[in-house]
Amino acid sequence: MYTTHPDAESALRETLALARRSPFYDAHLKNAEARSLAELPALPVTTKEHLRRSTPHGMIAVPREELWHYHESTGTTGEPIACWYRKEEFRLMGESVGRWFPEWTAGKIFLDRFPSFAPISFCIESALQLQGGCHIACGNLSWDVPFPRALEFLRALRPQIMACLPLEMFLLRELALLLGIDPRQELDSLEMAVLAGAPVPAAMRRIVERDWRVTVREIYGSNETLFLGASCARGTLHLDTRLFVAEVLDPETLHAVEPGRPGVFTLTHLGPKAMPLVRYLTRDMIRVVPCACGRPEPAVELLGRQDEIAEYGGKRLYTSEILDCGYRLAEAHGSRVFFAVLRERDVVYRVEIEGGSRAVDPAAVRAASEALGVPVAAQGARRGDLLDPTALLRTPKIYKPGQIADWRKPGRKPASIMEALLEWPKMSLSTALAVLGRIVRTGLERRRLSRG
Ligand SMILES: [Zn+2]
Repeated sequence: MYTTHPDAESALRETLALARRSPFYDAHLKNAEARSLAELPALPVTTKEHLRRSTPHGMIAVPREELWHYHESTGTTGEPIACWYRKEEFRLMGESVGRWFPEWTAGKIFLDRFPSFAPISFCIESALQLQGGCHIACGNLSWDVPFPRALEFLRALRPQIMACLPLEMFLLRELALLLGIDPRQELDSLEMAVLAGAPVPAAMRRIVERDWRVTVREIYGSNETLFLGASCARGTLHLDTRLFVAEVLDPETLHAVEPGRPGVFTLTHLGPKAMPLVRYLTRDMIRVVPCACGRPEPAVELLGRQDEIAEYGGKRLYTSEILDCGYRLAEAHGSRVFFAVLRERDVVYRVEIEGGSRAVDPAAVRAASEALGVPVAAQGARRGDLLDPTALLRTPKIYKPGQIADWRKPGRKPASIMEALLEWPKMSLSTALAVLGRIVRTGLERRRLSRG
């Protein structure tokens, strides 16, 4: 059990008393009691399914007048989980995030690609409100700022910090190279990439730091729990246990695992009050690891989702291992782009390779197989077949909804509300043929892979 809250015992009592005001915990904790941290493991765990069944109002522990934000979290089934917050939660998150990032200060420009329906964007904004810094909130799931525009922001607005999903660093780089822009030369204002939303394995961090000449820092959190931790200057992720009690539990027995063994990260809030969670199984697999930075908060390796563990004859593969191997394999072929197919008996990596050759390096494949401990095969793919950056240039352009078009003016001549609202990109014959070729090749490859 891990916590660095300065007064964890009384914060826990407060959380439990508050949680019981919600319809869910009123029933869930009816016959259970924990008077101290030591007794916390006696309480029943809370699962995502509990949250889902309590959606939309069953988890709320405060009067409705105190609510300020609503977000949703989607699990593997896609059924939404309601997440309610007060203003104080975001202030607390702002303070907490800020403690990890003292370099976010006035004068810094912060390009934030997290969608605003994910509360991480507001945690970042709260930190900037407290510490200074200019927030460009341009989520990647909105059509307001498509990828080419984000690239233009990087060039013209010269931000020092960018926050995004880990893969976006690769998407933007591919797009930049397509447009003849060298990120290391022309997008050189960036100092820090703040990545969140997926594991950042060591090989990936190394490649991003080299490609962009930045320091990679991680933020860990989720919509239902808010901020959970960040990486230190050494690049190791730490849990921010001032905000909660952390347990690492065996997924089957729900008993605490030995430090260093993988287990499900389970938390009990010691700060958030609108929707406090007690022994909440996040379904994230983590492992407590050593870190020499000297921070008191436990250092962990984020291994991936519990639901995404791949079993191979008793050997468990975690998302972070599969990704780490993929990046190493791609790197060995002078590439960044790969796609892993998990089959019955092996893992097949499709790797984009520059130039005419599709040949893979057998030594690199052997190294990947040894690292994963399962059979690995690899296939070369053409540049653009796994990640086509030109597709990022083909997103529709969105206008304000309108019912009037003045055809006397130069430019577009829409004849319906839909045409006035959306302009779909036109494809040249050669682009259409390239896209068609890719669809056919991917389809053939899928048939070949599925034959085993
Ligand atoms: Zn550290």
